[in-house]
Amino acid sequence: MTPPPAAPGRSFNASIPGADDLIRLHLSESPYGASKTALQAAERELGRVNVYPDPERQELIHALAEHWDVTPEHIAVANGSDELVLATSLTFGDRGRPGLVTEGTFPGYRTCLEMTGRGCTSVPLSGTAIDTEGFAALLPEHGIGYLCNPHNPSGAAHTREELAALVEASGRSGVPLVFDEAYMEFAGPDVPQARELLEEGAPVVALRTFSKAYGLAALRIGYAVGQPALITALRQTLRSLPFSVNRLGQAAAVSALGDRDFLDGVRRSNAERRSWFTAELDRRGRGHLPSMTNFVAVAARDCALAQDRLAADFGILVRNAGLFGFPGYIRTSLGTQEDLVRFLDALDEIEKNP
Ligand code: PMP
Repeated sequence: MTPPPAAPGRSFNASIPGADDLIRLHLSESPYGASKTALQAAERELGRVNVYPDPERQELIHALAEHWDVTPEHIAVANGSDELVLATSLTFGDRGRPGLVTEGTFPGYRTCLEMTGRGCTSVPLSGTAIDTEGFAALLPEHGIGYLCNPHNPSGAAHTREELAALVEASGRSGVPLVFDEAYMEFAGPDVPQARELLEEGAPVVALRTFSKAYGLAALRIGYAVGQPALITALRQTLRSLPFSVNRLGQAAAVSALGDRDFLDGVRRSNAERRSWFTAELDRRGRGHLPSMTNFVAVAARDCALAQDRLAADFGILVRNAGLFGFPGYIRTSLGTQEDLVRFLDALDEIEKNP
């Protein structure tokens, strides 16, 4: 094992030497692998690596439309939901107005809004909660809004009433609203999905990914499901990079959608791991935020120091949530039980001997 050099405050996506051999709890990756049939589908495509992928992503779009019980005009597919954050930022709403985000959220929204020259306003958190009322009130003055549900890095989710009020604000003002639902598969039936509100006709899209619950992060498949007028515009932008969604990923994603048993197993295992882990945190007297996802924000004393020492001395990669708005918390993926015990033991050790 090659420990990475300590690099205080290193950025979220920093490339870390030897990271594949370390305990990876920093990127909300799945410890459950991927569906066997999805992997077989990807493997079959290895025999055609000299052939470009379908630029229109037809088969996957149709499979997703069937999965969501919508027409294909409601779906766009891209190279991870990252690419959709950029493409929505390039495409939606009045580009002369800034985007609206919340403080303490996935940093990609701000990065893309700034990169596309729109700039952004962030609504302050109310404690560790998202101020949805403040967000809905400010939305009409903006060109586009981004919300993460369930939320990264806190793990919290919006209530049905909050979601309805946000969609209503978007419908009334005509300002497009993007709900990033990267972690929705883990959330359970009580957490409301933007999909339920599509009938309302508001300019809303939800972003989903095959990187998390489906365990296909390396194949880079994300998609948007939402209002057809927005999806048409989004697809037009995505056509500027016609081959960005590779053959292996398209084939694996189609197959993964058909393997419901695998996804159900991942959901069940993640929920069990989450219950065990939060009970273990309680047993150790360590604070945490309630999570609806496959990661947990764990209280720690000096998170910058802890992140760096966990990496340098213990080979454990986690994320200092203070770097994206939640000071006092370290975000860990719900990895294997063994890795989580190592993480907690190491954190205790670091706090005993800082
Ligand atoms: N949105 C959120 C909230 C995320 O946490 C991530 C990745 N960690 C992404 C989008 C991007 O996911 P991907 O590009 O792998 O689909």
